[in-house]
Amino acid sequence: MGLKSFCEIKNLIMSEESLPNCVKCGFEYIYEVQDKYVCPECSHEWPRNQVAEAEDEVVIKDANGVVLADGDTVTVIKDLKVKGSSAVVKVGTKVKNIRLVAGDHDIDCKIPGIGVMGLKSEFVRKVV
Ligand SMILES: [Zn+2]
Repeated sequence: MGLKSFCEIKNLIMSEESLPNCVKCGFEYIYEVQDKYVCPECSHEWPRNQVAEAEDEVVIKDANGVVLADGDTVTVIKDLKVKGSSAVVKVGTKVKNIRLVAGDHDIDCKIPGIGVMGLKSEFVRKVV
């Protein structure tokens, strides 16, 4: 019991110390100043959000890993139940003019006979 909590505390401390090494000289003990990292060894400064920015660009791909874009046409690759109704979007349904959005259902679209709904990109295939 005592040992376990010691390990947990140790892990906590370890994870808090997950600052990167200096990108210039590799010095380990850098510190954070507002939105920057600063190296006390060589005085190099670099922005903290460098990595985060790269991850900001969301790429949405279909079931085959093809990158989707606004305005694309896709087909549904499996029967999908429409939430809150008994309607089903049948496999093979063609959906025109999709719009990519953030979230769990990352495709906004209008399906003939059903209306506006959200689809998951993993259940569609891009029509080229
Ligand atoms: Zn440095």
